[in-house]
Amino acid sequence: MCTSGGAEVVETADPEPARDEVIVEVDACGLCGSDVHALERGTTFEGQVLGHEFGGRIVEVGAGVDRPVKVGQTVAVNPLGSCGRCRACAKGLPFRCPERPNLGITAPGGYAQYVAVPATQLVALPSGLPTEFGAHAEPLAVSLNAVRRAMAGPGDSVLVYGVGPIGLNAIMALRLSGVDHIVAAGRSPGRRAAAAKVGADEVIDTREVSIGDHVRDSGRPFAAVLECSGAPGAIAESLGVLEPGGTCVEVALSAEVTGVPMSRMVAEGLRVSGSCAFSNDVYDEAVEHIAAGRVPVAELISERVDLETTPDALVRLRTPGELVRVLAKP
Ligand SMILES: [Zn+2]
Ligand SMILES: [Zn+2]
Repeated sequence: MCTSGGAEVVETADPEPARDEVIVEVDACGLCGSDVHALERGTTFEGQVLGHEFGGRIVEVGAGVDRPVKVGQTVAVNPLGSCGRCRACAKGLPFRCPERPNLGITAPGGYAQYVAVPATQLVALPSGLPTEFGAHAEPLAVSLNAVRRAMAGPGDSVLVYGVGPIGLNAIMALRLSGVDHIVAAGRSPGRRAAAAKVGADEVIDTREVSIGDHVRDSGRPFAAVLECSGAPGAIAESLGVLEPGGTCVEVALSAEVTGVPMSRMVAEGLRVSGSCAFSNDVYDEAVEHIAAGRVPVAELISERVDLETTPDALVRLRTPGELVRVLAKP
């Protein structure tokens, strides 16, 4: 649970399900960079329970749930609440829905033993799949959404700039999209090694070679850049390595106010797009890929921690070093 200055582990009463909710016993919850940054910047609120990348097992079903869910079923939890009727929901932006809270952000999330979840936000996992895999659906969905916006496909070369968990998931999502060539660029040796493991064709160490130099040497600009680093100057740099008609998708929560080369953007028909979260169908698609074994999600896990040591792991992730993805196992 968050305090104004950080996070601590506390005992609370178990949640009771509302009529349309179930109680999920959390099996695993991914430690997300956005949680790390929220704590680092002090933007959390008193009593907030973070954690939006989780799955587990249903242990109680509310009286009014009219879906075929039952106690014992293993599920991935879509953290985004949506009414399905408002303008944001109609546009496929449920995280902007003003009617329903988002778990781990505006409602209690997955760094807990038990979470109350609206039944409409559950996606069943097939039996035989490790329950822990439910925690992988959210970051994969974020990345699948970004890849959709990149509008790249067979024959294209795409750059993933920044190889944190979202960049690494983006590499897997790009492999699924059938692009021809994936270049990953990053600073951390551990994460660059992971990029090669999950499907990057080429991996650049940006401490040695800039992406501009890489394109000059290879002679092959990119159809799209998925900018996942949020590093200063990264957006302008990304625009500089696109081919005509190319798209830069900003996936990191970058605070950057950037200058864009307008004459080149117009003359070459470049696009810049932001990508945040995902629509409900993209979340379902992520679970499908994981269930079918099409994505090597387990390769990314470098550590599992219990709830007691989760606050400490969230601090350690500020300087990840060799750490790639950490799972809380309540
Ligand atoms: Zn996340
Ligand atoms: Zn809505």
